[in-house]
Amino acid sequence: MSPPKKNTDTAFDNIKNQVLDSIDSFIFTKDLSGKYTYANQAVLDLFDKKLHEVVGQSDDVFFDLKLSVQLQKNDQKVMTLGIRVESEETNYIKVLNETRTYRSVKKPLFDEQGNITGMCGISTDITAEKILQAQVSEQKHLLDTILNNINAHVYMKDCDRTFLYVNSQVAELFGNKAENIIGKKDTEVLPKEMADHFYQSDSVVFKTQERQIIEETATDEQGNVHHYISTKIPFLSPDKRSALIGFSTDVTELFQLKEEFKKLATVDPLTELFNRRYFTEQADKEFIRAQRYKLSMALISIDIDHFKSINDKYGHPAGDKVLVAVSKQLQTSLRQTDILARIGGEEFSILLPETSAVSAMALAERIRIKQAELRIIGEWQGEITLSVSIGVSSFHATDEAFDSLFSRADKALYQAKNSGRNKVSYL
Ligand code: GH3
Ligand code: MG
Ligand code: MG
Repeated sequence: MSPPKKNTDTAFDNIKNQVLDSIDSFIFTKDLSGKYTYANQAVLDLFDKKLHEVVGQSDDVFFDLKLSVQLQKNDQKVMTLGIRVESEETNYIKVLNETRTYRSVKKPLFDEQGNITGMCGISTDITAEKILQAQVSEQKHLLDTILNNINAHVYMKDCDRTFLYVNSQVAELFGNKAENIIGKKDTEVLPKEMADHFYQSDSVVFKTQERQIIEETATDEQGNVHHYISTKIPFLSPDKRSALIGFSTDVTELFQLKEEFKKLATVDPLTELFNRRYFTEQADKEFIRAQRYKLSMALISIDIDHFKSINDKYGHPAGDKVLVAVSKQLQTSLRQTDILARIGGEEFSILLPETSAVSAMALAERIRIKQAELRIIGEWQGEITLSVSIGVSSFHATDEAFDSLFSRADKALYQAKNSGRNKVSYL
């Protein structure tokens, strides 16, 4: 070799060494017996040794090999099979008194004849990455456990209506697997009507970027309607797109109870007509409307004649059936806006908004006739017949409250009773 070339070689070796020493990864070569033939600065720093203290030494000097199983296995594989091995190694480093994890690439070294002479390796310390990974996966497991076990439907959707996450409750409701829902648009996994219903409040969240609390309904696979209280909060998806997180709690049972209570509060259970409370509420509202807009309004009060004797003759259960039959008959005479209620035992009232006294009288007369024609059959001998007495009143400009109409109709009813029953009277 000529001197100038030698100089270039030395200069190049220097650069090579500087490069290798400036790399954070651990770079080394070993001979066939496993003794180090080279180690870069990162390895020397790790072992806290000089190069000559490392070269010629085996791994047992630096590692606890009983605790660094993969290291030896990999070295053996590379040097006996002559193949490249890439794997993770968990090594116990004596000088640090610590276990660290590496991603290692190890390759065989060959002489000119192609015989394996040793190996070289590059290892990168991924301990921090592994700890982070373990923490993330532990947190994910914790979160999944919570989300799949809380009694709520939890989901994430982006502004393009694509599900980014659904918990197992959502998957169950949609009758599909979570992995088949995530990444799909709501319109792809739900009937259009239901998807649009959900999107109504979703779009409010996207528009206002404010939390929404709303009532929603959904029909499950079996066709049962569920009611939900849903909280939807704005959220930025991992790719910085506008998204939302929703929590929906099934309140179907509560909703049904509420509906039942509402019904109980307004409806008479025997006849299923409105009760006195509801009637009075509506009558007060109608009265104010009639006063304000100077509308006509009438009231019909109906009382079954000698009802006590029906009870006495046929028994109380038969009396109940008569009340139901009378109610059904009354309903046939109503217009959409009329309000019929059972006011008491065998007394009924009909509120007739925007109706004149003359029209109310005509209706009362029709009712009287129809009730007298009623023939009620049941678990008793023959047919039960009856008659009703009716009092009618109408709105006067001087009336101060609905009560005035009510008491006039009551007096008129009393008159009808006194003039022989099965009569209509007006006051
Ligand atoms: P009048 O012609 O004067 O109205 O006589 P009446 O017998 O109809 O009137 P009264 O007020 O004396 O009797 C009403 C009866 O209605 C007494 C009560 O036992 C009966 N009654 C009230 N509520 C019910 C009910 O829910 N079911 C049944 N079967 N009877 C009832
Ligand atoms: Mg009565
Ligand atoms: Mg009566």
